[in-house]
Amino acid sequence: MNVLVTGGAGYIGSHAVKRLREGGHNVVVLDNLFRGHREAVPDGVAFEELDIRQTDAVTDALKRHKIECVMHFAALAYVGESVPKPLMYYDNNTGGTVSLLTAMDNAGVKRLVFSSTCATYGEPDRMPIVEDMPQSPINPYGWSKLFVERILKDYAAANSDFAYAALRYFNVAGCASDGSIGEDHEPETHLIPVLLNTVLGKRKSVTIFGEDYDTPDGTCIRDYIHVEDLVDAHAVVMEKLQPGDQRFYNLGIGRGCSVREVIDAAKKVTGNDFPVETGDRRPGDPPQLYANADKIQSELNWKAKQTDIEKVVQTAWRWFKGHPDGYGKS
Ligand code: UDP
Repeated sequence: MNVLVTGGAGYIGSHAVKRLREGGHNVVVLDNLFRGHREAVPDGVAFEELDIRQTDAVTDALKRHKIECVMHFAALAYVGESVPKPLMYYDNNTGGTVSLLTAMDNAGVKRLVFSSTCATYGEPDRMPIVEDMPQSPINPYGWSKLFVERILKDYAAANSDFAYAALRYFNVAGCASDGSIGEDHEPETHLIPVLLNTVLGKRKSVTIFGEDYDTPDGTCIRDYIHVEDLVDAHAVVMEKLQPGDQRFYNLGIGRGCSVREVIDAAKKVTGNDFPVETGDRRPGDPPQLYANADKIQSELNWKAKQTDIEKVVQTAWRWFKGHPDGYGKS
């Protein structure tokens, strides 16, 4: 299939490009390089340096490359940043997707796989999270994605030959097992990269954001899914999409891991006993978030394979150790 990957120069998008090419698809990357890296796009892959809000130019790219499906990763993805800058998030994530859908409509592209998020559920009172639980985000980032899910429902209702899947990610972690591509964010706030940057001496210590939660070891619990599993699910879902389909799946491993457990895994994998401090809770952090991942398994016979946190951290460590300054300086 001819697939346009928006955000294909970013962390998850670049792993999707790799997986799609390995699956025999013809890939075109579209990225505005605001937070993506040109170096993450392999030689031989067509690259369109465009913003998804440039509707006419995107329409033209979809037509020129005879695109049959769009995999849409391009988005701003910092919960913390979205609170003081909501308009930036609604403009890029929600408005940007309306523009992309308009371009797809203009070009007659009828298949979309959309990056959604468990942040659309907000703070559910029950765990694990099942797809039909109420969605009530607690930050603009989550709303910016939930609005898109709503828009997709309305667009699909008016266009019976359109098909889409909204995939709600839990905590995406790890890097390509062959060490070729990885995670390079500025600023970096996610737990595993923070731990590995500490091992590399780029930070002095790690702070645990709260050790007084009502969890077995007092630290927050999250569901860490390996990025290779995550993008594999995208490819599987894309290949199954039929006209009229509207699919919603959680992408997690179905099990949680505490901050302490992730820290222990990072110490073991790196052999480095870096300093760890306990700090205040981070505002907006729910104590536990983990998926019920049964729906995609029962409907598409898909489940995550890389479920051992040490092995997940190992793949990230391979990338961080080999590219201490990220892309372009390795
Ligand atoms: N966390 C932490 N210290 C850090 C970064 C993260 O204790 O320096 C915790 C955070 O409070 C959360 C978990 O690690 O419970 C995962 O955080 P991350 O930012 O990686 O992902 P999030 O769950 O916020 O999407």
